[in-house]
Parts: sequence; C-alpha cells; structure tokens
Amino acid sequence: MVLLKKTNQYREIEISLLLCGEKMKKRRKRRVYHNWIYEISKGNTNLFYNSTDFDIAREKVLERDHYTCQFFLGKWNDGIHKPDKIKIVKANTVHHIISIKERPDLALDLNNLVSLSFEAHEIIEDRLKKHKKYKKITEERW
Ligand SMILES: [Zn+2]
Repeated sequence: MVLLKKTNQYREIEISLLLCGEKMKKRRKRRVYHNWIYEISKGNTNLFYNSTDFDIAREKVLERDHYTCQFFLGKWNDGIHKPDKIKIVKANTVHHIISIKERPDLALDLNNLVSLSFEAHEIIEDRLKKHKKYKKITEERW
C-alpha cells in the first residue's frame, strides 16, 4: 500500500514536470527567431512591426523617453520639420530615424528609435495634408 502510494506520488511529480516542459516548449515556439535584415529587405515589414522583438524595443524606447513626445519637447527633429510650440505630449509611437528599408540592420537599434506622439509622427512622415499645404506655401514664398 505504502509503495503504491509512493509510486503514484512520483508519477504525479513526473506528470507535472512533463507539463512544465511542454509549456516552456510552447513559449519558446511562440517567440520565433527572425533574420530581420533578410525579412525587411524582402518587404516583410508588417512581420517586423508585429514582432515580439520590435515590441520589446518599442517599450524600451518609450521608457527611455519617459513616454514623452521628443518632437514637441524640442529634443528631436528630422532637420526638416520643427514644432510650432514646445509642449509636453504623451508619446505612443516609436519612429525609426533612419527608415528600416534604408537600414534594416538598425531596425532594433535603440539609438535609431525615438518616441513620438501620433501628431508628431504624422508631421515627420509628411502625412498631414495641412502640413503639406503649409510646406508648399512656404516653399513658393521663400
Ligand atoms: Zn515613422
């Protein structure tokens, strides 16, 4: 009887160890290794932006920049666009200073990443129609 109990206990331990290993295997499976230089140059940028690797880098950069938009803080600009007014705005976007298509090797380089607000990012990426118009006017005038 005692022996049977013991074997049962051991079996339980074995089973729980097995489950543990299985869970770890699953976790490792979820985080897939990617050769980003290869993937980005192939055009798989969405795969990169949705990756755990980028998620970790993004979080590190936001933390470094205290979740504050560096453009509106006057700490960073691209040399073309400048903020009209210095203000403290929450950052929710991480921008590649040198684009990943240009330098896929710098895709995860924290020095190539800067925290921006949505608005600042639109300005930097030249996606604001208002800003484009403004730029055209100034180009014509000056
Ligand atoms: Zn960007």
